[in-house]
Amino acid sequence: MNIHEYQAKELLKAYGAPVAKGTVATTAQGAAAQAKDLSGDVFVVKAQIHAGGRGKGGGIKLVKTLEELHAEADRMLGKPLITPQTGPKGASVRSVYVVEDTTIARELYLSLLVDRASGRVAFVASTEGGVNIEEVAANTPELITTLDVDPASGLSGFHGRVIASALKLEGDLAKQCGKLVKTLYNLFIEKDASLIEINPLVVTKEDKLVCLDAKMGFEDNALFRHPDIVELRDIHEEDPAEVEASKHDLSYVKLDGTIGCMVNGAGLAMATMDIIKLYGGEPANFLDVGGGATKERVTEAFKIILSDPNVQGVLVNIFGGIMRCDTIAEGIIAAARETNIAVPLVVRLEGTNVERGKELLRDSGLAIIPADDLDDAAKKAVAAVKAAA
Ligand code: GDP
Ligand code: MN
Repeated sequence: MNIHEYQAKELLKAYGAPVAKGTVATTAQGAAAQAKDLSGDVFVVKAQIHAGGRGKGGGIKLVKTLEELHAEADRMLGKPLITPQTGPKGASVRSVYVVEDTTIARELYLSLLVDRASGRVAFVASTEGGVNIEEVAANTPELITTLDVDPASGLSGFHGRVIASALKLEGDLAKQCGKLVKTLYNLFIEKDASLIEINPLVVTKEDKLVCLDAKMGFEDNALFRHPDIVELRDIHEEDPAEVEASKHDLSYVKLDGTIGCMVNGAGLAMATMDIIKLYGGEPANFLDVGGGATKERVTEAFKIILSDPNVQGVLVNIFGGIMRCDTIAEGIIAAARETNIAVPLVVRLEGTNVERGKELLRDSGLAIIPADDLDDAAKKAVAAVKAAA
């Protein structure tokens, strides 16, 4: 789960990290009125969407008067902001963050993430901040320092010193850096974060370190421990079908293809997607209905798959291990009737009571295309979609 910049900054502030003072507003009038509580006359108006690259899309503006502030907030609010990360439709701007201006001397990069290679929490630091870090990694990898933290010994002064040196910070700035490293690590561990990215982390003209931008993500499987973080969720930033799926404990990820997939088990779901591609088709989604695929969940899964206008056929691939195939067949039949499925439906069942399950599908009177194994199912689904196109 990701949160907005202003929420991330509030968390950073609560932990003692240096951030510029700011205020969040949902209307231009509100933004101008609230800015009066900030100091100075120069502010930065920042569109709050989860995607980055806002500067390039016109979502970050320096303003010198309250009139200008009002005009910029008005221009951003209620409209989609298109950035290199949002896709062509952009993301709708529902709030703006107004912050006191920071006088920038240098822009740096600092993040904390879970490094899959080492299996540890790691810091990534670079002197090349403010820009796309993926580009820095591709063109000048020598300018990026990665430092992981041994979970047994935890964080020490050593980490702060290595990062300060990687960022070319000396004297008091190195001390500020050591403190920030500790703060970010504590926040990351205590809140079960998956990413904290400060890009840019700036050195001001007054030689102070300030977190100018903040992107934070949290481990979904640990959210039950953090009701305060769950509160920060903005479902407008998420795919509506994925939100609906999560309400029913279905793991669903929308993709760009035409063959809807309903599968139990993440491994089988991946294999099903692979084999669809092998036979020249494109999966429309990843969907794992889980071990306890009840009639209700199968029905919800069908509804979610069919809500995608790109879906031209559905492939059900279920292994009845814990669940019996006849129970699953009943679920499929009920769901197909309830949703009035109008696209070809290929079903491959295997496992306990498979014969009884197939018999139920045959006798249902529904135009279900039965398949015997994974190959057969994928070939039939691809052929059915091609024929319908
Ligand atoms: P992103 O493009 O979504 O990652 O947005 P950022 O918040 O990182 O801002 C992009 C760039 O805008 C930064 O690298 C800065 O150069 C500039 N910027 C952002 N906030 C401020 C600010 O408070 N003051 C000034 N002067 N520039 C800022
Ligand atoms: Mn940024």
